[in-house]
Amino acid sequence: MEIVYIALGANLGDREKNMRNAHGHIMRLEGIQPGKISKFYETAPFGGPAQPMFLNAALEIKTSMSPHQLLEELQRIELHMGRIRKEKWGPRTIDLDIVFFGDRIVEDAQLKIPHPLMHERMFVLEPLAEIAPNAAHPVLKKTVFQMYQELKTFHQ
Ligand code: ATP
Ligand code: CA
Ligand code: CA
Repeated sequence: MEIVYIALGANLGDREKNMRNAHGHIMRLEGIQPGKISKFYETAPFGGPAQPMFLNAALEIKTSMSPHQLLEELQRIELHMGRIRKEKWGPRTIDLDIVFFGDRIVEDAQLKIPHPLMHERMFVLEPLAEIAPNAAHPVLKKTVFQMYQELKTFHQ
């Protein structure tokens, strides 16, 4: 079993319901053990077209799946929940990104772990700092709390 952190985001429809549904679907996957979930944070959209505010959260699970199996399951949930991919960084009913997968490093066409922009995104780091301040980035060798503090300082 590996400890995995997932970033959830929603900015279309009933955002809170979409977040809860996605969480429920993830909990019902085979080979998953539930962990902590953060509060839902309301955040301003960043990049892409003008669009509604997001809800963002971080979720901890343990899984016996491989990183690619988990990505496939998360994409199945996104599709099932009516996510339509139109434009890059466009609005969505649900977005499920794998942030960390244990201390594994994955870099291929389908999957990059750690998520390549996680350390630059307050909407990822703030919820993650709530549930896993001591989780470490296997490449940058920094804890979530350190990355969160650094990004906060940078934005001031
Ligand atoms: P961003 O990745 O910048 O947050 P996005 O979430 O809007 O952008 P998507 O359209 O949801 O991007 O995903 C595009 C592709 O990213 C997916 O089809 C998937 O193959 C790939 N991908 C690469 N690394 C990851 C990861 N760690 N978690 C989820 N998807 C990933
Ligand atoms: Ca994303
Ligand atoms: Ca995504």
